[in-house]
Amino acid sequence: MSSLFPALTGEALTPDRPALRFGDRSLTYAELTAVTDTLAARLKGADRVAVWATPTLETAVAVVAALRAGVPAVPLNPKSGEKELGHILSDSAPTLVLTAPSDELPDTLRKLDRVDVDVVAHDTGGTPAPTDQPTTSDESPALIVYTSGTTGPPKGAVIPRRAVATTLDALADAWRWTADDVLVHALPLFHVHGLILGILGPLRRGGAVRHLGRFDTTAVARELSSGATMLFGVPTMYHRIAETLPTDPDLAKALGRARLLVSGSAALPVHDHERIAAATGRRVIERYGMTETLMNTSVRADGEPRAGTVGLPLPGVELRLVEDDGTPLTAYDGESVGEIQVRGANLFTEYLNRPDATAAAFTSDGWFRTGDMAVRDPDGYVRIVGRKATDLIKSGGYKIGAGEIENALLEHPGVREAAVTGEPDPDLGERVVAWIVPADPQSPPSSAELADHVATHLSPHKRPRTVHHLSSLPRNDMGKIMKRALKAEG
Ligand code: ATP
Ligand code: MG
Repeated sequence: MSSLFPALTGEALTPDRPALRFGDRSLTYAELTAVTDTLAARLKGADRVAVWATPTLETAVAVVAALRAGVPAVPLNPKSGEKELGHILSDSAPTLVLTAPSDELPDTLRKLDRVDVDVVAHDTGGTPAPTDQPTTSDESPALIVYTSGTTGPPKGAVIPRRAVATTLDALADAWRWTADDVLVHALPLFHVHGLILGILGPLRRGGAVRHLGRFDTTAVARELSSGATMLFGVPTMYHRIAETLPTDPDLAKALGRARLLVSGSAALPVHDHERIAAATGRRVIERYGMTETLMNTSVRADGEPRAGTVGLPLPGVELRLVEDDGTPLTAYDGESVGEIQVRGANLFTEYLNRPDATAAAFTSDGWFRTGDMAVRDPDGYVRIVGRKATDLIKSGGYKIGAGEIENALLEHPGVREAAVTGEPDPDLGERVVAWIVPADPQSPPSSAELADHVATHLSPHKRPRTVHHLSSLPRNDMGKIMKRALKAEG
């Protein structure tokens, strides 16, 4: 494999082009090469470094320098509580933490040696380093990224350099991603989406990133109107965009100009997809991935974006749907539900310190069990039904996906947010339970009205038998609904 960053190492050098911009601070490729050279030299010989992953230039520089030094990096979520952070630190055992000079560190981290990443005080006149650290191989760990903890405590996925390169090149193919693309970025930097796709992706191509620090529709509109070509977001961002569009013609115009609007990390509600399409003329492209597998599927830039689907397997990814008894489904009928299993060079190596969990995650013939359930349309497009553990409700002999009921509830004008779970029921096995945030808390829609709405839109056996009202849904920092927490509230 060639180096991870051809544009930094001389193979396709573009020294004067912009690489990273965070607020009013930015680095060209030549500057990024210089600062990461210096930092990488300091990191050589370290076993594993933690990165205090605030949404800053320092974080991006720290991760790139660690990759160039061949030292595995563990991005830490600065918003994690002491308990989660303690778990991740004792599990990953870094000896060093890379931070921005201005970062305040929690007690748990103070035991580690600290290196403040200095992004300005370097001479950029030197010759670029010829390649990445030569002692790494394709299988060397690039990053240890912790899963989002949606279904249980976060697990550390060991991601080899080969998987990073493979997934980014597959996305470049699917999205026609080039050095001329400029990404608008507002995601956190401690997960695959924000870090690998959002930072390493543009740098591998030789393109540019403009990070907003925090998501804001006005800033998104400003960037897309001044040269940015793509936006990566999570569904909560697209929801905010959908809500803002009716009163913000500048936003509609800016989104209409974008080359690519991409959503991932959780299902994009059909209602938001359609509202954005109606107001901007652009359809959001959905891609599906996970920490362990990086990216599995996507709608292609030149394909047909269809609401509620995550497109086709990416080049090099083998994907199958498998029934409970292990039989692979062969029909693409848009109805038969199976677990998504994948194989390919995009996969992680193992869960750190968890040989049991690693073994349980693979079939005997090497397929990774994603735990996500899906159907495939006749042309092969994958439609995710939900997670096997929390989103598949077995009620009255039917298997019902929470997602389609959530989509139907969101079409009701009285519903702002919706989540659906299954609860034990003596007659039905499980019954459908809806958790909604009403659009107007003073006059929420009645349970009977919502049950009728779902019965007419979908079918009677899918109607919620119980409806709970909440002021907000419990979500993690990627905006994913924490169904474990919902069930605990019920
Ligand atoms: P944990 O594994 O710790 O419970 P997590 O699965 O949420 O947390 P991630 O690896 O960050 O951690 O998320 C991957 C999951 O996100 C996928 O397995 C899938 O359930 C969901 N996901 C990602 N993209 C999409 C998408 N486009 N549509 C629907 N679900 C998605
Ligand atoms: Mg997971």
